[in-house]
Amino acid sequence: MIRNMNSYPLYDDGEHKVLWLGIEEAEDEKGILTNQYLVIDGSEAALIEPGGFFVFSRVLKNVSAHINPTQIKYLLYSHQDPDVIAGLNLWFEYAPLAKIGISELWVRFLPHLAVMSAGRTIGIPDKGMEFQVGNSKIRAVPAHYLHSPGNFGFYDEKSGILFSSDIGAATFPEGEWYLFVEDFEEHEKYMEGFHRRYMSSTKALRAWVRHVRKLNPTMIAPQHGAIFQDENVGKFLDWLENLEVGIDVFEKEFYED
Ligand code: FE
Repeated sequence: MIRNMNSYPLYDDGEHKVLWLGIEEAEDEKGILTNQYLVIDGSEAALIEPGGFFVFSRVLKNVSAHINPTQIKYLLYSHQDPDVIAGLNLWFEYAPLAKIGISELWVRFLPHLAVMSAGRTIGIPDKGMEFQVGNSKIRAVPAHYLHSPGNFGFYDEKSGILFSSDIGAATFPEGEWYLFVEDFEEHEKYMEGFHRRYMSSTKALRAWVRHVRKLNPTMIAPQHGAIFQDENVGKFLDWLENLEVGIDVFEKEFYED
């Protein structure tokens, strides 16, 4: 599939919109491919997983096609990895009214990005919290140890979309890419290695799956790879529930011949 440089609507009821913010052809030469998402409700917006330095101009262009960046109320970060956070300094400038939401574990690490918070950082407590955007709520859903020890997904209540951070991440081989998972069994092979090595704990993963089943999301939209919708949401959760990861498999993989 040809990579889509422009944004793509995931939900739109006139008042509330959710957009995927594009990917450029050459981005995999500049690190792992990443997804960014914009939630707009009335005159306010939240940018989810704003991303690193090289994607900034593409994300800014696609955001600006829909809103003025001064309407961004929150920049929401699932965790502290460079592909999630490295553009923070730029967003700080271009979205001057936005507050940053990130796990409280990472708040004291942010000044090392040369960001002086100036009261703009909200440390999300371990149990999560809600962010009000227009007339809608985005809930920070705990996903600790998956993979970061201070890790959140973001659940947009109006659309029912769960932005799942690195859970559900897929790494495509060169030349391969699609926005929505169509053949789940084919897609598994792009996810398995990533999950086994980057996710820390099978126990944490199964606890997350139990919680997400209660949320019953309409879509699961990860920060890398493709989006799950319709029957693939359930297929993905079933697959995760039966996967062993991290500290539960490392001994066999690292130390046995
Ligand atoms: Fe990560």
